Amino acid sequence: MDRSIESRVNHEVENWLRWITRWRPATHRGRSRLCRQCFGSPIIASAGLAVDVPHVVQHALSMRMKIVIDASVDEYTELNLPMLAHELNLSERRESAQAYRPAEGLDPEFRGLDLDPQPAADAPYLFTFSELADQQPPEPQPAPRRSVKPDVNEPLAPAEPLPPLSPEEKAILKAEMQLADDFATQVGIRVCAQLTRERPRLLAAIAQFVEPQVQALLADLESTLDSPLWPRNP
Ligand SMILES: [Zn+2]
Repeated sequence: MDRSIESRVNHEVENWLRWITRWRPATHRGRSRLCRQCFGSPIIASAGLAVDVPHVVQHALSMRMKIVIDASVDEYTELNLPMLAHELNLSERRESAQAYRPAEGLDPEFRGLDLDPQPAADAPYLFTFSELADQQPPEPQPAPRRSVKPDVNEPLAPAEPLPPLSPEEKAILKAEMQLADDFATQVGIRVCAQLTRERPRLLAAIAQFVEPQVQALLADLESTLDSPLWPRNP
């Protein structure tokens, strides 16, 4: 099958290799919080990018691999897990009713990162994208949990209360969620194995496009510290 996990990984590796030729170190202050997507990630370790690689560069790859895993799990769910697929479809329609979603439509490199840069201590923001993203629309409209033929184009109201699931439905849903989880783990293992095979190409790109810029930054910093205006041994 052409759209195998491995070929999808390679496709996203190609995208990352194209992206990295344009990478430049950030000039603004980054946040010090650890990224849950990248820190300790087996994907980053398999790619060989766990040490001495800027987070933004790691993040671009881990988000691209997340695309591969999410798409595979979505397809599997759609094909094999009808109850879970239905529930996910409902919650997606509720989400799409939200008026403004600044985190949507971003390039993979920017997904999962903080929406707002760190504010300066003396200049707080009037509003932040994170606040807007958290806002819920004010007036939820009631709608049935299930219709015979749901209109996928019609968004549901986000805060609409749904009738509770029966114990049987809950049990089926729980079993299907477990299957989806197991499948995601299997996909993750295959993604890591494929990244290990791709490691030489990934490391060559780091050596060519990232390392020289990091070295230049360090050299710059060193010459600043050596400056007579900033004596090392006063
Ligand atoms: Zn990250």
